[in-house]
Amino acid sequence: MVERFEVALNTPAGRLTTAIDVPTGLIPITAIVPVTRRLGEEAGQLEVQQAIAAGQTISCRMGCAACCRMLVPLSAPEAFALREYVEQLPTDRRTQLLNRISTTKDRLKREGVWDRLNNVAEASRPMPDDELDPINRAYYALRIPCPYLEDEMCSIYEARPAACRELLVTSPAELCQDLVQNPVTPLPVSMRIGSILGLVWGTLTSSPPRLIPLPMALEWAERHVEESRQTWPGSSLLDQVLDNMWRFLSQAFTNRHEARGEGQGVPGKDTDPRFHL
Ligand code: SF4
Repeated sequence: MVERFEVALNTPAGRLTTAIDVPTGLIPITAIVPVTRRLGEEAGQLEVQQAIAAGQTISCRMGCAACCRMLVPLSAPEAFALREYVEQLPTDRRTQLLNRISTTKDRLKREGVWDRLNNVAEASRPMPDDELDPINRAYYALRIPCPYLEDEMCSIYEARPAACRELLVTSPAELCQDLVQNPVTPLPVSMRIGSILGLVWGTLTSSPPRLIPLPMALEWAERHVEESRQTWPGSSLLDQVLDNMWRFLSQAFTNRHEARGEGQGVPGKDTDPRFHL
């Protein structure tokens, strides 16, 4: 049994209205991940339409995976959902993937980055940007392709993290070859879905909101699998997701208003869906 909710959200790029079906009974947190991502993608589409109407071009194309060398953060619910997705893959695909993840882990260990990523994943408090930035830079300096990348295409496209879905640029694609040196222009993101799911999970489990680096997401999810088996009423999970979305949208309106007006805004604050570089 599902219950249908009509959702309306005012975003800085326009009004989003959509219907969402949520199971009426108790559901695990992973069951709310797809609808939360869908809302994020629909909000993202409004940004795309607005950018195109303003004469901008979205440079991102299939086969361009320059940004798949950055560190991608996942919320705990997304890490659990990714684990479930990988578990149901055909054996040969799963084995290939797990081998690539293992190779990536070995390299990160050799480079002294793995333990630093693990500290991020298991932090008992939200990590401030000044602690995250050096870790993120050290990771990006290695230019390690994401272990989920295959022939420069995402092999888990339908299950990829929200942070991957949210990164679109309007600057020339060649600038993305070096995201530290080059000034790229990401499309604004009014709701960071990974952060929203992380906040919901933090509230549900009385734990600090955490972001888990993608290369270790499966390992982290396995370590915490018991937590993923808890269930909550579907409508209550949706309420919490929407509540956090409204807070993000309110902040996005404020940021853009300030940035447009007197230049006193927080440039990039709502536009950087990944760990900062
Ligand atoms: S999950 Fe897919 S889209 Fe995201 S960084 Fe990895 S390969 Fe790229």
